[in-house]
Amino acid sequence: MPESAGREYTLLGADGRRYRSRTPGALGGHRRLKIYGRLDCPAALRALARGGYIAHRVFFADEDTAIAAGYRPCAVCSRAAYRAWHAGLAD
Ligand SMILES: [Zn+2]
Repeated sequence: MPESAGREYTLLGADGRRYRSRTPGALGGHRRLKIYGRLDCPAALRALARGGYIAHRVFFADEDTAIAAGYRPCAVCSRAAYRAWHAGLAD
């Protein structure tokens, strides 16, 4: 990514607050729905194409951060993580 030299990205931390990062987020999320998923998630891309999602779009460095921030895995693109998260709710 040569065009990213010197670029900064806004990511969401484990405390749910934004911070600047030199590294782009590995996961995308919906700030209002509190769902995170892959950047190429078909459900997220459809929602982005429809519009409305972009205003709530956030990014995370990794899965642990997203979960710590109170987000849950996307059932469409993160099936295994979603099942693990869902099973955890039963505790
Ligand atoms: Zn997804």
